[in-house]
Parts: sequence; C-alpha cells; structure tokens
Amino acid sequence: MALGSTPRMTLGGTDLSVVGRTRIYVCGVTPYDVTHLGHAATYVWVDAVDRVLRRLGGQVEVCRNVTDVDDVLFAAAERAGGLYEQFAAVQQFHFEQDMDLLGVRKPAHEPRAHVFVPQVVALAQSLLDKGAAYESAGSVYLPGAGVAEQAGLDRDTAERLVKEYGGRLDDPAKRDPIDQAVWQVSGEGEPAWDSPWGPGRPGWHAECTAMALSTYGPSMDLHAGGADLRFPHHAFEAAQAQAATGVVPFARAWMHVGIVQLEGPKMAKSVGNLVFAKDLVQQSSPGAVRTMLLDRRYDEPWDYTPEVLQRAAARNDELYRAAGTPGTDQAAWEAVLAALAGDLDVPRALDIALEEGGQVARDLTTVLAL
Ligand SMILES: [Zn+2]
Repeated sequence: MALGSTPRMTLGGTDLSVVGRTRIYVCGVTPYDVTHLGHAATYVWVDAVDRVLRRLGGQVEVCRNVTDVDDVLFAAAERAGGLYEQFAAVQQFHFEQDMDLLGVRKPAHEPRAHVFVPQVVALAQSLLDKGAAYESAGSVYLPGAGVAEQAGLDRDTAERLVKEYGGRLDDPAKRDPIDQAVWQVSGEGEPAWDSPWGPGRPGWHAECTAMALSTYGPSMDLHAGGADLRFPHHAFEAAQAQAATGVVPFARAWMHVGIVQLEGPKMAKSVGNLVFAKDLVQQSSPGAVRTMLLDRRYDEPWDYTPEVLQRAAARNDELYRAAGTPGTDQAAWEAVLAALAGDLDVPRALDIALEEGGQVARDLTTVLAL
C-alpha cells in the first residue's frame, strides 16, 4: 500500500492512531476462576485492535491488569485453604495459558493490584486534598451522584448496578448509597494495608485507576472491558482519574465488548452457566473460536450455542480453502484493511477475503490470527 493511503483506525468515532504509540488499557481478570467465554471475548477483541493497529503501522502498548486484591478472590482462596497471593498466582498462570491458546498477544504491561496499594493511597489522598472525596470511618469515598449523572443513568438504575457489582448500598459510613470506596476498611479475615485512615484495602475501581495512571500517566488512547463494566467500574475509574489529575478525558475512546450469554443470562460464575474457552478450543480450533468471537459487531450482546461455534468453524475452514487459491488483489486487500480500520468491521473484512481468496484471505488469517 502506498504511503499516505493507509487507513486510520477509528473506534466509536475516535481516531485511535494519531502519532506514535497507542496506549490501551483493558481491565484484567480477578484470578480465581477458569477463563470463560465472556473473558475470552473481551481479550480477543482487544487483541484484534492491537493486531490491526500494528498492521497499519502503529506502535501499540496493551496494559492488562490483574485484579488480585478482591473479595471474591479472598473467599475463593480461603475455600481452597491457601494464601491469596499464591492462589492468585496459580490462577493467573492458568489464565495466561488460556490466552496463549486463544492466540492473544502478551500485553506489554501486566500490573498486579497488590503491588499498587501505595499508589491507591496516594490517589485517595489526592482526591481528599482536592475536595473530590471524603473520609468516613476509616474509608475514603468518591461521591456517586455526579458520576451516575455523567453516565446518563437515573437514580434507580445507578443503585441497581452498584448493588449488582458488589457495592454495599447500606454501608452506614457512606453519605449516599451509590458513593464508591477509593479506600475501604478491610473485612474480617481480609488482608489489610496501612494508610493514613487506618488499616484497609483499595477499592476496586481505584485499583484500576492507580494501575492505569502508573502505567500511562494521566490519559490513554483506548480503555476496554466487558460491557458490564461500564458502570460503576469504568465510570468511577475515569471520574477518579480526572478529578485527581485534572486531565480530561482519561480515555480518548472506550471499547465495551458485548456480553456473551448462554440463552439469556450473562455468563458468570455466580449464575453457574460457564462455558470455558479452553474446552471450546479443544472441541474445535483456536481459529474457529476466534472467528466465532470476532465475526460480529464487538459491542453487541450475543448468545453462545454449540451451533454458533459450528458455523464459525465452517466459516474458518472456508477462509482456509479460499487462502489456498492463487491470486492477489491489492484493491480488495485495501478494502479489507479499510473494513478493519473502520470500527473493526470483521464480518465485512471476512466476506471480502472469502470472495477474493488467495493472498487477501491469507493476509486476513494473519492479521486476525484466525
Ligand atoms: Zn478495571
């Protein structure tokens, strides 16, 4: 492709590739569980952005944190009878093996929450100094009303989401039930660290804020995560960062990956309807699973069924058959790249590659690791 004609990658209307590096942050897993298809979808989509930007000549850095300070992790480690640090390290090892199996490139940065506790304390202190947060009974809270309003949520929805994602509405130390802890008093038997407000531990959103600021400074190009993290997690993460640094926006673009459902409810351990990424790769192939995850709009929810995987495997086979044919069409390849660069239109890129075959199909399997 001639210089100057390389398309620029846009996501949700934001031009990601401007000059130099593209900084991507994706909320990582809480390492207490096997990688399910919902996790796989998020990380394979981020991997697709990474690979497409590289193909377009960008310098990409991906930061995928490890949330190894979390209630569910403490509880799971206790059930397993081990120290949470060791338990988390073993689970993280399995997660990384699953990412390898799915062909996800290793991130440039992989911060672990337990290492960033001093940075969360600094963040909480900065928010207090600016009058953006308040201290109460040994915890530090960020007021939630403005954050919910900014996210366009009414009161009932905000309360429901805070409750759904582990926030205690009845915490007596809060001024408002939807306020979220930047720093919180540790529960019985949970690990605790020293702070100016007494022993405690970081709030979930504050962990990501501290890790993102520590990795990239006050702003980034793309923040990604599952659509279920939109509120309260991402909204508070951004609000805290912006209040502490004064730099707006914290993220130039957001990528919220559509929820994977199993005939209705969201796939989640608490619902008990998990489909594991590893099992699907063993039943089919990494290329078939990646095709299933990517051959759709990234932001739409969808239902997993074995038939969806079979159809994806057939489409993946078709792509490989097409790749075995002769021919190379520069205009078709440019159309494939333009589809990928324009809000990651993988279905269109695949359709073109299947029709053209040859080098165009071979290059698409490489770019998306299909
Ligand atoms: Zn996060």
